[in-house]
Amino acid sequence: MPVLESGVRDFPQERRVTLSTREADFVLHNANVLTMAAKRPRASLVAVEAGRIVFVGSDDDLDQFKGRAKLVSCEGKTVVPGFNDAHTHVLAHASRLLGVDCSPASVTSIADIQDRIRQQAARVPQGTWIRAGGYDEFHLLESRHPTRHDLDEAAPYHPTKLTHRSLHACVLNTPGLALARISIETPDPPGGLIDREVETGEPTGLVFGMDSRLNERVVPPLSEQDLRQGIRLANNDFLSSGITSLTDASVRNGPEQWRLFLGLRERGELAPRVRMMFGLDALAKLEKIGLRSGCGNAGLGLGPVKIALAETRGRLYPPQDELNEGVLRAHEAGFQVAMHAVEEGTVEAAAVALEHCLHRSPKADHRHRVEHCSVCPPVLLQRLRALNAVVVTQPAFIYYSGERYLDQVPRSQLPWLYRTGSFLRNGLRPAASSDCPVAPCNPLAGVYAAVTRRARSGQALSPEEAVPPEDALKMYTLAGAYACFDEHQKGSIETGKLADLVVLSADPTAVPPDELMEIRVEKTIIGGEVVWEL
Ligand SMILES: [Zn+2]
Repeated sequence: MPVLESGVRDFPQERRVTLSTREADFVLHNANVLTMAAKRPRASLVAVEAGRIVFVGSDDDLDQFKGRAKLVSCEGKTVVPGFNDAHTHVLAHASRLLGVDCSPASVTSIADIQDRIRQQAARVPQGTWIRAGGYDEFHLLESRHPTRHDLDEAAPYHPTKLTHRSLHACVLNTPGLALARISIETPDPPGGLIDREVETGEPTGLVFGMDSRLNERVVPPLSEQDLRQGIRLANNDFLSSGITSLTDASVRNGPEQWRLFLGLRERGELAPRVRMMFGLDALAKLEKIGLRSGCGNAGLGLGPVKIALAETRGRLYPPQDELNEGVLRAHEAGFQVAMHAVEEGTVEAAAVALEHCLHRSPKADHRHRVEHCSVCPPVLLQRLRALNAVVVTQPAFIYYSGERYLDQVPRSQLPWLYRTGSFLRNGLRPAASSDCPVAPCNPLAGVYAAVTRRARSGQALSPEEAVPPEDALKMYTLAGAYACFDEHQKGSIETGKLADLVVLSADPTAVPPDELMEIRVEKTIIGGEVVWEL
């Protein structure tokens, strides 16, 4: 479907149905349907036609469809709206899936990382870049980041980049540092930090906040063949996790990535519906090719302008004035703004920028977003509430990184970390996301963490922020749609909405919380088509 030109999203119109007998392509019945709709939260039958939900009712309504639709019994299984991952990184996920896997699930020590990189070095010619990723120093036996020397031992003749699980740090070996032109003389770039030996000032190989820059200027891009293979793997990961919609939150996105997503969607290589964020730098370029706010269709649409805020050595990047100006520029161009803000200082800077913007150019339903909003003390929460900001949080971080938070986050900040309950109670409409590949994309891990507030070890983090499973599911469905102005089209099981549905092995609102992670996605349906089945 052509979406390069500007225009309003061309959602197909709802089909009218007659009252006594009904037609549909298929009817899911004998189902435990959690609709997420206020009017009718529970149902047992859903009829789908031409990619849309045309009827929601009970098994008593089944007779009307007999002989007029394919009837599919769900055998009592649970049906929920397709999950919406409100903040993820498709290309980084694809690249991570192709690279050397150094995630905590695969390695436990620096020696393990070296083994894996050594094996890769034996497979590819000298001089070829080795991409490795997913390490988390907190979960390594040595409890430290690897250094250039550790990587040199494994791959002395291959430039190597080992990316941290967070994507905000990476380690280069000596050939990698040379190609990146990072030496003792190189100053820290804006918003970045080069870690150095205390005594000599030599770079240790570890750099912070420079991953995008290195991918753009130093590490060659994946070949088209590799990229498509990575996307295939990522697509399968999303679908098997029940993700039918996602927002790609990469700050590097621009016209080139728009075309890439367009191609992937047209060829059916990326099945979930995509909203693409893009960097502020790309705003003018996108406008030049006719792309404006609201552009696209149900399959691919232009999302918010992403601005990444960082606080390094106590300094804000971009500086507050520049940030205020950028937010206002995107706002006045009619776009939503999504600010990446993790530290308390950056969340505050995001609030200041929004106050500045809305004071100059008031708009009631702007839905400007704060991504992560990781540390949010009560005063900031109230400011964000007054601003009507949307928070996009990552509950699964509690599960995957909880032990690290308990160890490293100051005690005074722990109650304010990845809040959910108090966001909901204060009407901030938080949407949930994985930030994949920072964490695995499985929404049920996020539901588990939002409900239990437990880390992998079982330790709880501010349990007063826990939410009931119904609310956790809404954060992964309806709230994700709302965060992109899509709530009229998806996020709940209601007549007229897109038939994006997931069949689960058990009911998340009925199983003991400890069993939430064991629930499996059995079927993923997008626009009425089964795109994945267990
Ligand atoms: Zn992210």
